[in-house]
Amino acid sequence: MISLHSGEFLELTIKDLMISSERVAHVQIGNNLEHALLVLTKSGYTAIPVLDAHYRLHGLISTPIIMDSILGLERIEFEQLEKKRVEEIMKKSVPRVNITASLVSCLDLLVNHPFLCIETEDGFFDGILPRSTVLSQLNKIVKRFKHTEK
Ligand code: AMP
Repeated sequence: MISLHSGEFLELTIKDLMISSERVAHVQIGNNLEHALLVLTKSGYTAIPVLDAHYRLHGLISTPIIMDSILGLERIEFEQLEKKRVEEIMKKSVPRVNITASLVSCLDLLVNHPFLCIETEDGFFDGILPRSTVLSQLNKIVKRFKHTEK
């Protein structure tokens, strides 16, 4: 059965596939929604982590959450972007795993989440594991397996 058989996928670690924290677009606790929307729009991602000054993970902020929070009864209240802070509206339940977890244990979570936040053993934000990276790795293994099967 593909390479769960050969162990190829099982040998990979989260560290092999994750995007490290310095390359992850994020916002900080205390930032207003205008800043968050700017980072989201410039980066092109729909959701990004919210960290504190010590690189601890507090939540996720996304464009839909921001837009929903400034939606008034009759109009979009753009002036709220400057007034509200990310921590007031961020999603606090974050799919997070420890850097020492196995990649197989991440698959379950990745079914429902486009990326997982990775934390060090001390609980500091270490990066993210995007679903696309894991799928692309599995795809390579499946293709290689099909090739050697011929
Ligand atoms: P992807 O699989 O590359 O499309 O990424 C899925 C999601 O992961 C994106 O929509 C973002 O929410 C998040 N993401 C991926 N790469 C980054 C990054 N460098 N910085 C922040 N968020 C990211």
